[in-house]
Amino acid sequence: MAENILILCYLVASVTFILGLKMLSSPASARKGNLVAAAGMTIAIFGTIFLYEENGIKLGNYAWIFGGLLIGTIVGTLAAKKVKMTAMPEMVSLFNGMGGACAALISLVEFNHLAHEILVTGITYGHTGKILIIALGLIIGSVSFSGSMIAWGKLNGKVKDFSFAGQNILNLVFLFVALACAAWMIIDPSQTYLLYIIFILSLLYGILFVLPIGGADMPVVISLLNSFTGVAAAFGGFLYDNKVMLTGGILVGAAGTLLTILMCKAMNRSLLNVLVGSFGGNKNAAAGGASGSQGSYKEISLSDTAMVMSYANKVIIVPGYGLAVAQAQHACHELEKILNEKGVEVTYAIHPVAGRMPGHMNVLLAEADVPYEKLQEMEQANDEFKTTDVVLILGANDVVNPAAKNDPASPIYGMPILEVEQAKTVIVNKRSMKPGYAGIENELFFQPKTSMLFGDAKKVLQDLCAEVKAI
Ligand code: NDP
Repeated sequence: MAENILILCYLVASVTFILGLKMLSSPASARKGNLVAAAGMTIAIFGTIFLYEENGIKLGNYAWIFGGLLIGTIVGTLAAKKVKMTAMPEMVSLFNGMGGACAALISLVEFNHLAHEILVTGITYGHTGKILIIALGLIIGSVSFSGSMIAWGKLNGKVKDFSFAGQNILNLVFLFVALACAAWMIIDPSQTYLLYIIFILSLLYGILFVLPIGGADMPVVISLLNSFTGVAAAFGGFLYDNKVMLTGGILVGAAGTLLTILMCKAMNRSLLNVLVGSFGGNKNAAAGGASGSQGSYKEISLSDTAMVMSYANKVIIVPGYGLAVAQAQHACHELEKILNEKGVEVTYAIHPVAGRMPGHMNVLLAEADVPYEKLQEMEQANDEFKTTDVVLILGANDVVNPAAKNDPASPIYGMPILEVEQAKTVIVNKRSMKPGYAGIENELFFQPKTSMLFGDAKKVLQDLCAEVKAI
């Protein structure tokens, strides 16, 4: 009876994971999707704790289990409540690393159980499948853990890019030796020390794999490591013959892989180029063909900006990373409403990699209650710019850089961009002439129809609201 209820719990949980993922694909239902999947995970966890039995024996160890659950829940809740939107990739990386560590620990513990069984029974054959799963779970989980920790350190500025000649070859050697140890362990499972060699080599592989990758590419790497964690968890599902762990692991693995491909496509780069290139890592190198000042730029005052925008028919706002840093989304929505009241049509153009994670701008604007129908995707916005009077760029840089179209030497060449220069007037708000994440100058800022409105996005927008109201 308990077993049947547990199977039902797992089925319900698996369905909620799939529904939750589906709902995450639209900003309107994303929040609910997260809750649905979390509810399913809760059912799976409590079902396992109270209903799982092996040879009629329940799990027990409740003090340890609930102690761990309590600590994890407190840490997770506090971290999620405190984290700033701009630090979200960092937190995802840290949490993902914990998932990888769990998968690696499962392999370590289960191999020790197996080794004990072999010692007691003396039967060394017939364990091929199990040892293979343990070794693969250990390798992938450890790589994901150490790689995610380095990615986390890089995103919060504590770890710097580092590479040396022959690093890729050394890494391949580590991987090859780890796989060879796994093969040896299958042949002779009594050589338990091999497990620890695999563990150490995999940790080193994860560290050296992520260390040389440039800062701007970290979100892509995190998404890739996320898919690794999913695969490692799926191996855990095989090991325990646990269907919900298997389903969850496969879904995370597939979602992480798809997200990685999507980000690479949005930047028009191959995964290999992301992994071996150093985009955004070395700012001088990244400046590439677009280095050096491109001439003079003109500034615009707040009152002139207010005037131009108030008398426009159609305005498109382009939000970027700077808007998130300044936490200016509410002020931005305020400006949109004031302009609307004056009869100006205002929409937003959203680039798929604006900000520091996919969907960053959608989440940010949703937080300020900007209606979803006002958000235009890149292709749609690029058709609209031709008939737009004013484009107001708020803390965006790389995603509007024409070098992506015009300069084959630029590191962002080929990345699809928002073609704002087609509009009649372009106003760019940022604090200085400093480059964006790719570390390159933006020729848009020097074009005749572009004016620079310097200052922190929030302060500028608040002042602009007051100016527009007064007209
Ligand atoms: P960028 O990082 O190119 O530029 C942001 C700009 O905001 C900077 O030039 C900065 O200029 C300005 N800024 C910073 N703080 C403020 C502030 N308080 N007020 C006003 N302006 C501010 O951002 P984009 O959104 O245009 O581009 C995203 C970049 O991240 C791309 O290179 C993309 O490839 C990369 N990336 C994004 C991923 C994603 O999933 N979203 C994934 C991987 C990479 P200043 O210092 O002068 O103010």
